[in-house]
Amino acid sequence: MLALCVGAVPHLAGCTKPDAAGHGIRIVAAENFYGSVAQEIAGDSARITSILTNPNQDPHEFTAGAETARQVADANIIIFNGLGYDEWMKKLLDVDANPNRTVICVSDLIRASAGMNPHISCDPMAMLALATKLSVILKQPNNLAKFQRQMDTIEAKMAEIKSKYSGVPVTATEPVFEYMVSALGLTNENIPFQRAVLNGTEPSFEATAEFERSLRSQSVKLLLYNTQVTSPASERMKAIAQQNGIPIVGVTETEPPNSKSYADWMLTELTAIENALNTNS
Ligand SMILES: [Zn+2]
Repeated sequence: MLALCVGAVPHLAGCTKPDAAGHGIRIVAAENFYGSVAQEIAGDSARITSILTNPNQDPHEFTAGAETARQVADANIIIFNGLGYDEWMKKLLDVDANPNRTVICVSDLIRASAGMNPHISCDPMAMLALATKLSVILKQPNNLAKFQRQMDTIEAKMAEIKSKYSGVPVTATEPVFEYMVSALGLTNENIPFQRAVLNGTEPSFEATAEFERSLRSQSVKLLLYNTQVTSPASERMKAIAQQNGIPIVGVTETEPPNSKSYADWMLTELTAIENALNTNS
C-alpha cells in the first residue's frame, strides 16, 4: 500500500457508491494532467473536475476561490501534486478535515522528497503510480491495463530518442521538463539559471552570461521554453536562441486543451524534441 499525503482513508467502500443525485464518485484533481489520468482509469464511474486547466495561467500563482473550495469539499477523491506546487490545495484540505475522502498526493507515490523540482508531470512513472492507485480504489483493472499500454508507447519513444541523442547538450528557460530531459539521457545545461527562474528570482549575472554563451556558441542543440510561465529573462534567452538558429521547443505546465490524453501530450512533446534534434545534431 502506497503512502498517502493526508492520513489514512478508511471509507473507500463509500466512494464506490453513487451519491443521492446518482452522479457516482466525485474526483477533484488540482491539475488537469491528473484529471486526465483519473478520467482514463475511472471511465464513466466517476465525475472528474480539474482545477488548473487554463494554458495561459501560471499554476504557481493560483489561489483558490469559493468555487474551488466547494468542489474540493464535495469530492470523494482528491488528487494533487505536492512539493509546494499546489499549496492552495493543502490549505483547503487543512480547513476541512473530512475523514471520508481519499487524498492522493502524487509526489508521495513516487517517494519524492522536499526541495525536489515539483514538475513531475513529465515523469510517466508518476502517472503510472497514480493510475495504479486509482485502479485499485475504483476497481478498474482493465482501464489500468489500457493505460499501461499507453505508457509503454511513451517509453518506446523515450528509448528511441535516448538511443540517438544520449549525451547531447540541451538547455531550458525553466526546469519544467527536467525529469524527462534526464530520462532521455540529454545533458541539461544552465541549471543555475533554470533554478532561479523556477524560484521566481532573477538569474545571476554569471548564470545569464553562461546561458547566452551556450546559445551564441551553439554548444546547446535545443532550447526548451515554458510557454505557460514566462519572464523577461526567459524571453530574452528565447530571442537569442532564435537569432542563433537554436531550435526552440515549447513545453507547458498543464495539459493543453487540444490534448486527447496524457500520453498524447507527452508523445507530442517528445516528437517535437526528436524533430528538433534531428534538424540540429
Ligand atoms: Zn512551473
